[in-house]
Amino acid sequence: MTFELPELPYEKSALEPYISSKTIEFHYGKHHKTYVDNLNALIKNTVYESMDLDDIVRSTVNRAESTAIFNNAAQAWNHAFFWRSMRPNGGGEPEKELKARLIKDFGSVEKFKEEFKAAAVSQFGSGWAWLVEDTGVLRVIKTSNADTPIAHGLKPILTIDVWEHAYYLDYQNQRAAFVDAYLAHLINW
Ligand code: MN
Repeated sequence: MTFELPELPYEKSALEPYISSKTIEFHYGKHHKTYVDNLNALIKNTVYESMDLDDIVRSTVNRAESTAIFNNAAQAWNHAFFWRSMRPNGGGEPEKELKARLIKDFGSVEKFKEEFKAAAVSQFGSGWAWLVEDTGVLRVIKTSNADTPIAHGLKPILTIDVWEHAYYLDYQNQRAAFVDAYLAHLINW
C-alpha cells in the first residue's frame, strides 16, 4: 500500500502560543511528510508493500538490513500518534478513569508528570518520552531516535517528541520549557 500523510487533527495555528504554526509547518509539513515519502519509496516492490504500518514496524525492528525502513515507518507511526497526544486547550486534569490509573501506578498525577518530564528532558539527543501500558501497568519510558513502544510489545497512551525539530523554533535549547508547556497546556488526556 501507499501510505499518506494523515490529516492533522487541528488547524496549524491551533496549538499557539505553545507550538507555533511555523513549527507545525516544518514538523508536520516537512519532517513528518518526509518520513512517509521515504517509507513509500523504500517499500516499493518489497514484501512490506502489502503490510500496514504497525506490521512494518514490528517486522523490521532490530534487523540491520531493514534499518531505513524501520526508521521511517516508526517515525511515521510516532508522529501520527504525537499529533493526537495534543489538543488545543489541552492540559488540566486527566479524565476520570485515566486519573485513577495514574494515581494507582505513580502515586499521583503530579508524580506521573514529574517522571514524564524527567524522561523527556534526560533523553540524550533525539527521541521520545511515553506513557505506556505494560501488561496492565502504566509506565513512563523514553526511546531513542525512531524507536517506538509498539516494536516492543508495549501499548502507547501518550507521547512527546523531543527531537530538536519539535521545539527549537519556539524554545531554542530550552527543552524543559517545551515539556512544561506540553504538560500544562497541550496534553490530550
Ligand atoms: Mn518529530
